Amino acid sequence: MSPLDEDARPVLVVGLGLAGALMTLALQRRGRTVVVADDGGAVTSRAAAGLVSPINGPRLSRPPRTSEWLAAATALYTDAEARLGERLWYPGPIRRLFRDADQARRWEERRAEPARAVNMGPAEPPGRHPQGLDPHGSGPILGGGRLDVAGLLAAVARERAAAGRLREAVDPGQLEPTPDGVRLGGEDYAAAILCQGWSGAAGPWLAGLPLEPLAGESLGLRLSAGAPAEPLHGAGWLVATGPDSARLGATHHRAVGGEPTAAGREELLAALPGLWSGSSEVVAHFAGTRVAVRDRAPVAGPHPRWPRLAILNGLGGKGALWGPWCAEAVAENLLDGAAVPAEIDPGRFGTVTCA
Ligand SMILES: Cc1cc2nc3c(=O)[nH]c(=O)nc-3n(C[C@H](O)[C@H](O)[C@H](O)COP(=O)(O)OP(=O)(O)OC[C@H]3O[C@@H](n4cnc5c(N)ncnc54)[C@H](O)[C@@H]3O)c2cc1C
Repeated sequence: MSPLDEDARPVLVVGLGLAGALMTLALQRRGRTVVVADDGGAVTSRAAAGLVSPINGPRLSRPPRTSEWLAAATALYTDAEARLGERLWYPGPIRRLFRDADQARRWEERRAEPARAVNMGPAEPPGRHPQGLDPHGSGPILGGGRLDVAGLLAAVARERAAAGRLREAVDPGQLEPTPDGVRLGGEDYAAAILCQGWSGAAGPWLAGLPLEPLAGESLGLRLSAGAPAEPLHGAGWLVATGPDSARLGATHHRAVGGEPTAAGREELLAALPGLWSGSSEVVAHFAGTRVAVRDRAPVAGPHPRWPRLAILNGLGGKGALWGPWCAEAVAENLLDGAAVPAEIDPGRFGTVTCA
């Protein structure tokens, strides 16, 4: 039994974006009391559509851990719905609209590989798009779905506030890790987990990690023709958020984001005619900064120097897909002493420094 198992002190989660929410849930599932520090930001998590897609990019890639990521996501989101009493997880196919005949051919080639076939249904001829915007056909991506990210963050904040365990922002520079816990002012925690998104890159504990900003924007739309039943993925993506509302995304630029731009809006609206027709109205504009890591894997696990100070960051554009698996790995490390997989271990770069 690890020492933390016998340690009744609460665990502090710093930051309530998607990472902080997942970390809170993973710890609560294990019976831990969690105090969440929230500064009300989470602009990046609120920009996300929450798509959980096991097949990605023009190469239709499916990394080897995909089944593990999906299993962890499904289990955590199902558990979150029961714990928080709200519908948050919408499993179902995502429709990939083929750009040309080449893409349709590549789909069938990739589907011939057994590992991919699990998540790729047969290519379908034109006509599956309800408005006929699939002249080269389409293919269903299976096994994923959509997480209502904003709904999850609000529900976790409400639940922790009701328990008297939600606090305002903390200054990470004031955290004092010790070999058996973390102190903050006069308070004593069994452990602390830094879930700060891009603002963590500037803080003391993550210095030295090769983190890169990837700005992104999305639009909230009201659609006169009603929203599509399935999330659509073509030049961009369009995901229903209500009967006549949808999220249109997303832009990608190697920069720090966070402020909606006219250029971002224009870029997004240029992709809409390929996804959906009928008149539309922009009702919201979101912008955030994804955190990418040089080796394109998240950073999840104990700080190399302080085992009771953990990190969950670097979720890139796939936080809703691989975030739950990472959060479970961090929780298991803290509670059971299980090593986190080497590819997400913050110590893999050997460069993390501290205050
Ligand atoms: C346009 C766009 C679309 C996207 N679409 C998808 C998608 O469809 N599917 C998907 O899986 N991913 C998507 N992503 C990526 C996803 O948003 C991220 O992976 C995820 O939201 C990162 O969450 P985070 O909690 O690490 O960071 P953040 O959302 O940045 O949250 C970190 C939080 O910590 C707070 N914080 C920092 N320091 C402190 C402190 N000292 N005290 C208290 N709070 C603090 C911050 O203010 C913030 O609220 C998208 C991203 C963008 C930009």
